[in-house]
Amino acid sequence: MSPALRIRHCRDCGAPAAYRVPDDDSRERAVCTACGTVHYQNPLAVVGTLPVWGDRVLLCRRAIEPRRGKWTLPAGFMELGETTAQGAARETDEEAGTRLARPLAARSDLHHASLVTLQILRRAHSGQRGQQDRR
Ligand SMILES: [Zn+2]
Repeated sequence: MSPALRIRHCRDCGAPAAYRVPDDDSRERAVCTACGTVHYQNPLAVVGTLPVWGDRVLLCRRAIEPRRGKWTLPAGFMELGETTAQGAARETDEEAGTRLARPLAARSDLHHASLVTLQILRRAHSGQRGQQDRR
């Protein structure tokens, strides 16, 4: 695990946390040295689409770091209370201004050890409105 991702203090009481394998577990976790709270760290869900317009694929140019100026598929962090398909559609609309038809296929990958990306292949109903990726 990247040192930047390691939990140093308990989110409940603020005491130092130490990494160890808790009882009845098989993975090392951050455990509070004072109150014993076990802090589980899980990947963040990133959802997006592979929007198809005729025989072309819509890409977005990143407006911020990391990879500012690079081309990417529209995607972003899933919000609480939405499905993966809803999140993918929202991110595509926010970043590319494109409404989507029903999903055609989906794929997911684990990268950077802390993100899960889900890409959904969908046909676009309308073209882009020239908006750049804001994340
Ligand atoms: Zn604690």
